Amino acid sequence: MSEEKIGVLFATFECVPFLKTGGLGDVAGSLPSYLNKNGCDTRVILPKLSYISKEYRNKMKFICDYYVNLGWRNVYCGLFTLKYKGVIYYFLDNEYYFKRDNIYGYFDDGERMAYFSKAVVETIMHIPDFKVDILHCNDWHTALAPVFLREFYMLSDVYKNIKTVYTVHNLKFQGQMSDYMLGDVLGLYGNEAAMNQLRCDDRSINFMKGALCYSDALSTVSNTYAEEIQTAFFGEHLEDVFRRRRDILYGILNGIDVKEYNPGKDTLIPANYTMTKMEGKCECKKALQKELGLQVKADIPVFIMIGRLTEQKGMDLLDCIMDELMDLPLQLVVLGTGDKKYEDMLLYYQEKYKGKLSANIRFDNALSHRMYAGADALLMPSLFEPCGLSQIIAMRYGTLPVVRETGGLKDSVKSYNKYDGSGTGFSFANYNAHELLFLIKDVLGVYYDNKKAWNKLIHQAMKEDFSWTKSAVNYVNMYKDLLGE
Ligand code: ADP
Repeated sequence: MSEEKIGVLFATFECVPFLKTGGLGDVAGSLPSYLNKNGCDTRVILPKLSYISKEYRNKMKFICDYYVNLGWRNVYCGLFTLKYKGVIYYFLDNEYYFKRDNIYGYFDDGERMAYFSKAVVETIMHIPDFKVDILHCNDWHTALAPVFLREFYMLSDVYKNIKTVYTVHNLKFQGQMSDYMLGDVLGLYGNEAAMNQLRCDDRSINFMKGALCYSDALSTVSNTYAEEIQTAFFGEHLEDVFRRRRDILYGILNGIDVKEYNPGKDTLIPANYTMTKMEGKCECKKALQKELGLQVKADIPVFIMIGRLTEQKGMDLLDCIMDELMDLPLQLVVLGTGDKKYEDMLLYYQEKYKGKLSANIRFDNALSHRMYAGADALLMPSLFEPCGLSQIIAMRYGTLPVVRETGGLKDSVKSYNKYDGSGTGFSFANYNAHELLFLIKDVLGVYYDNKKAWNKLIHQAMKEDFSWTKSAVNYVNMYKDLLGE
């Protein structure tokens, strides 16, 4: 390994503890420090949204300001910094785009993301004492950065050796915008090469397609998903591009922050426990049942679901079998927000099955910890799942995941083998509600009739290494491939 560290600028719109709506926030909040343990100097660059808590905003230090060209606009950008848990963060300030109470969901999200992507690239020449070797962008929010870098900055000495990496965390949101933006915001109208690569039809452009065509390496968050997205079912109309660029497409499974998610030390749960001393988990279960108005009973399994309430997460399967599920000897706790129809569905069933089903329609990090700790099993029957973190966190807490074999679920959960007792959870193959129901019946069979096997599975799940150690090395190897090291 060369003596010099690899300078990585990690561009993202979410990062724990500043900004989070889902898995991207967790990844950005934990991966960089592991990259730094493996020969990188990784710094994270984020929008300075007013959504970020004052606790952090007040500590940020101003570095400098400059202007960014965006089509016909010349837009202010202030550069702030903050060191948090050993990692250097940069925050880009522009009140017109970022003085918002939410992260996304605005009419001008396309322009906001275009601005952020351009400002990220512009900022590279303004960061004092930091040489960027790799610009690592994530999801559609920063997808235009590799495009801008190549089209507007590549000729300058500061930029010409920078390699770009683009990671797909969520393929559903691609940043599909009106073609009008090409000239008005991106300043690329008339650039035939750029127009061809950004266009997805006569009237629209697609930010993510731009990143997929322009980046030097692509990655997604599990090996299986990297294969799946080359097919029409999973590719969300970009499968041709993934297939064309499959030689530079890497699949690297996410890790979790094993310090934040540690049942032995977690301060958000009522009692701590470890693999060898599990009594605390029973206390957590009792407390959870009490808190949520469920029947307090040690020997009934508590199933949980934590995540966005969308089609992706298998909510339709649940709807289809809910009455049959509620006939079984189990309790179900759901935590999540999402599509109104699924929120209403859960509230309806909660009313119908009082004391057996608890629906918590909100974002509540502390409750999620209490659920991971207090439950016996986690349901995750996703239609597709790039990686999924909930099942990994669940295993860390000795809560056995019940998943569909897709994407990262397939790569992270080893299905129970009743002949040799191996496994870290349970899985089913087809997106079919009754296949899920039958699997849950099997799970109950093990829970009620084979406690020894159940406890062995818990032990095996908790023993797995879910830290970023292995995956961080895979990212660093990808960077090295690009830099020819
Ligand atoms: P996604 O597809 O949303 O990225 P992941 O499983 O990869 O799904 O990550 C979801 C993360 O967000 C997990 O850490 C999960 O615990 C957390 N999470 C999701 N919804 C909620 C919620 N309503 N309250 C608290 N945490 C949540």
